[in-house]
Amino acid sequence: MASLVKKFGGTSVGTVERIQAVAKKLAKAKEAGDDQVVVVSAMSGETNRLVAMAKEVMPATVDVRELDVLLSTGEQVTIALLCMALKTLGCDARSYTGAQVRILTDSSHSKARIVSIDTDKITTDLEKGRIVVVAGFQGVDAEGDITTLGRGGSDTSAVALAAALGSDECQIFTDVDGVYTTDPRVESKARRLDRITFEEMLEMASLGSKVLQIRAVEFAGKYNVPLRVLSSFEEGEGTLITTDDEENEMEQALVSGIAFNRDEAQITITNIADQPGTAYSILGPIADLNVEVDMIVQNAGVDGTTDFTFTVHRDEYQRVLDFLVARQKELGAATVTGNDQIVKVSIVGVGMRSHAGIASRMFRALSEKGINLRMITTSEIKISVVIDEDYLELGVRSLHDEFGLADAAVTEA
Ligand code: ADP
Ligand code: ASP
Ligand code: MG
Repeated sequence: MASLVKKFGGTSVGTVERIQAVAKKLAKAKEAGDDQVVVVSAMSGETNRLVAMAKEVMPATVDVRELDVLLSTGEQVTIALLCMALKTLGCDARSYTGAQVRILTDSSHSKARIVSIDTDKITTDLEKGRIVVVAGFQGVDAEGDITTLGRGGSDTSAVALAAALGSDECQIFTDVDGVYTTDPRVESKARRLDRITFEEMLEMASLGSKVLQIRAVEFAGKYNVPLRVLSSFEEGEGTLITTDDEENEMEQALVSGIAFNRDEAQITITNIADQPGTAYSILGPIADLNVEVDMIVQNAGVDGTTDFTFTVHRDEYQRVLDFLVARQKELGAATVTGNDQIVKVSIVGVGMRSHAGIASRMFRALSEKGINLRMITTSEIKISVVIDEDYLELGVRSLHDEFGLADAAVTEA
């Protein structure tokens, strides 16, 4: 008998028929003796629909408290429908919103962090032989206000519940049958990985692979929650996210995956003074606007001046560009320009640590396709480049070929 937390994403509960199919799957596992806590997302498209309505009613600003009240309704629909479907199959089941379980979070609406989970109700239900269904993506703060955990946050709800309950495994059921070497919707030759380390998965998620929310991976790594990504629609082993043990070390590929992020936009400021405080004078006020900056590149100074480029989320692009154009004189810049038709493509692999020459292979592969690199950043286990959006697919596929990711992992001496 296993104790499992199972999370079903938006597509997996996207229609009444799919909810019924999930119920059947759970009923079967119940018969086999599993203790199951189930986390569900809103039906696919529902969260976007709610966001769009909120924008219509309140175009100029965002009331994050009310937005969270609104967005949490999406998941409330699916918990109730899933429980009804389970009961129709003769399975005893109970639904709970985040507030009812008491998934206590901080008060950062729309990006709240889980502080604690009260597992009493859940364990009592499990002891009574019930399947417990919890709304993903939401919690409640100390004031009793509804909070949400950021887009894709149901993954984090599931991992946090698994950690609190000490479950044997947290299973993320989705519309692909595991974690692939890259998004299989962009590269059809992408290969499913049997295992990936937390470190690599975290990097992939941070660099744009939305198959798992970043926080869910962080949380699972921190609390050692065994985490697996599987298909809702087919049987299979999926992908296990593991700690970097010796067995993994043996089969380590140089590059294990390619991630990309379409949400980037770039801003460049030219001919600013090459002196202490310049970077701060640009980025300090941007931090005050509560905008996250991703990549930052500053040129080596020539004749006392330098150029400065950085990227922000595309949603923030116009706001930041307008802000800096207005400050151009004050900054002493020759030009302030931007481009929101760019993307970031990254290669990821813990195997890169001990190997030289990977960057040059990456740059050669992209140059052979005539792809211009606008920005480059590296860390021990990843190399990222910013390229024009039109070249995203071509870039991802050429890197996938270059590093032999369609073939089984090759052991490097
Ligand atoms: P859910 O609604 O179940 O949470 P998501 O849309 O959030 O599902 O995540 C699954 C999607 O992640 C897949 O449909 C796939 O297009 C995308 N994806 C991006 N990168 C990868 C990857 N490396 N491996 C698998 N899927 C990926
Ligand atoms: N429904 C939320 C979203 O669309 C949370 C989730 O699906 O994980 O982002
Ligand atoms: Mg998701």
